[in-house]
Amino acid sequence: MRGLGLRKRGINIISCPTCGRTKTNLAEIVEEFENEVSEFEAHLDVAIMGCEVNGPGEAREADIGLAFGATSAMLFKKGTVVKSEIPKEMAKNILKEEIYNMINK
Ligand code: SF4
Repeated sequence: MRGLGLRKRGINIISCPTCGRTKTNLAEIVEEFENEVSEFEAHLDVAIMGCEVNGPGEAREADIGLAFGATSAMLFKKGTVVKSEIPKEMAKNILKEEIYNMINK
């Protein structure tokens, strides 16, 4: 797992190096997500992981994250899956919604 380490405040995106288990274009998803949350002020560690089998566990240090399969994704918090079978195209929006809720608690 690696952090992109691009910012000292705001959303810190953590991703995995990908491997044979990865069934999605993770780099593209990470890049899009990074652009979408660039204005977020609150500091959270957010993981975007390349598989559902190991992603949540490997990113258990992250506050929240997504682990992607071929067509769906899981949402997890501190390594615990809180939502699964999320259609891939909806995953980033659901993650952003959860982040808003965490920030505005
Ligand atoms: S999270 Fe999954 S895809 Fe990413 S490096 Fe680990 S095993 Fe591979």
